[in-house]
Amino acid sequence: MMLLSLFTFLILGCSNNSATTNSNNNTMTDPQHPDNPYYSRTDTTVLHVSDAEWKKVLPDSIYQVARNKETERAFTGKYVDTESKGTYYCAACGNELFRSDSKFASSCGWPSFFETRRKNSVEYVADNSYGMIRTEVLCGRCGAHLGHLFDDGPPPTGKRYCMNSIVLDFEPDGGAK
Ligand code: FE
Repeated sequence: MMLLSLFTFLILGCSNNSATTNSNNNTMTDPQHPDNPYYSRTDTTVLHVSDAEWKKVLPDSIYQVARNKETERAFTGKYVDTESKGTYYCAACGNELFRSDSKFASSCGWPSFFETRRKNSVEYVADNSYGMIRTEVLCGRCGAHLGHLFDDGPPPTGKRYCMNSIVLDFEPDGGAK
């Protein structure tokens, strides 16, 4: 029990330190995201970061979708036609979102998936904007707006996670080429 507590303390301590440490020096910052101290593909700690802080660390194109809930134009996203095997992460925080085996060819113009990597990879919020009743999909770790969920997907789930490419980071299996 004591060992477990110590372990938990070390894990939590490390998580808490990472953001602080990173803003002072970049030793723990993801090398591909040197300006974003919150980006991690291994730390699943839920983040509570203000929009003002995200504005400082995210490229504006990602910020506009992730925090301002903008939508990229259909058929313009970089992953619309991607078929390579690999994993899709949140471009804001590195949270693991989808595997390529759940991606399917959809005619909607945005990268579409029928299931998430983990149950808590994302969160859902009712979205009644623009006179439509939709389900908004948010990153389960950082709360970034990712896209919407529809019920017209293929088996086995019948779901269609309609995502904005700009808020996804794709890593091919075997590492970046
Ligand atoms: Fe995220």
